[in-house]
Amino acid sequence: MQTKLAQLDDIELRELVFDSPEQALRMDLTPQDLLEKAMTALSSTERTKLRRSKDKGREDRDDLYAVLRAAFVCHLGVTIDGTPMVVPTVYGFDDDYLYLHGSVASRSLTQPAATVCVTVTVVDGLVLARSLFEHSINYRSAMIYGVPQVLADPWDKLDALRIVTEHVTPGQWNYARRPSTKELAATTMLAIPLTEASVKTRGGPPDDADSPDAALGLWAGELPLRSAWQKPVPDPALPAGTEVPAHIAQRASPSP
Ligand SMILES: Cc1cc2nc3c(=O)[nH]c(=O)nc-3n(C[C@H](O)[C@H](O)[C@H](O)COP(=O)(O)OP(=O)(O)OC[C@H]3O[C@@H](n4cnc5c(N)ncnc54)[C@H](O)[C@@H]3O)c2cc1C
Repeated sequence: MQTKLAQLDDIELRELVFDSPEQALRMDLTPQDLLEKAMTALSSTERTKLRRSKDKGREDRDDLYAVLRAAFVCHLGVTIDGTPMVVPTVYGFDDDYLYLHGSVASRSLTQPAATVCVTVTVVDGLVLARSLFEHSINYRSAMIYGVPQVLADPWDKLDALRIVTEHVTPGQWNYARRPSTKELAATTMLAIPLTEASVKTRGGPPDDADSPDAALGLWAGELPLRSAWQKPVPDPALPAGTEVPAHIAQRASPSP
């Protein structure tokens, strides 16, 4: 990413980092400051600019990575023959790309080069207010726009598959049998640049504590939601005595 950013001139960098030219001019930044800001800031394009609840927006790239780390299922939004299609699918990521994979027969993965929209959602709980109007959700979510690159080189595909596998099930790449040449050929692997993305989060209690509804005497607060891995269930076809590998057992009962 640093290499790509270093190719931009001062104006292009300012456009990437700031919402408006006025804001850019107010900031007295050296080219090195700009480069550093561009590397950590999330883009603010016409598409990713939050129009509602701007206070919930997060501008740091690390916030994007934190949301991506917290989940492994995303929703891929594509347009096929003029009709929107939103497909749940697993992902992996590195600093620069989100990786999605699937069958070569999968229509959502094999559209001609066109912009897609991917969302990642983590639900942290319900926000139960005095009024139904103020009910909400505590969440962390990310939205990524981009034109996917189809990885054709088998080594690039393998590396991206490793990234997806290790994101979903750390330790499994070195444990399970790796894809054969035939299996690799049957797999489409997409890399979506993490350059145009937004992050939105909500946390904390309801917003109506200081409204007239507080006098209603109703309970209000948060109902947190946590997902947790459960004890592994062995395949009944396993030969007796086949041990659960440590990387799976540990995940189901993380150390305190
Ligand atoms: C689990 C969950 C449940 C929600 N339930 C509701 C609901 O019931 N009603 C409701 O109105 N809203 C809900 N939201 C918020 C919703 O996702 C939108 O942020 C909000 O509705 C504003 O939508 P908009 O069309 O006005 O987006 P705009 O503000 O016009 O979107 C502009 C840009 O902002 C960014 N953006 C917008 N929303 C998000 C987001 N959630 N995450 C990351 N980037 C974003 C995108 O880049 C988008 O292109 C929920 C969010 C989550 C995660």
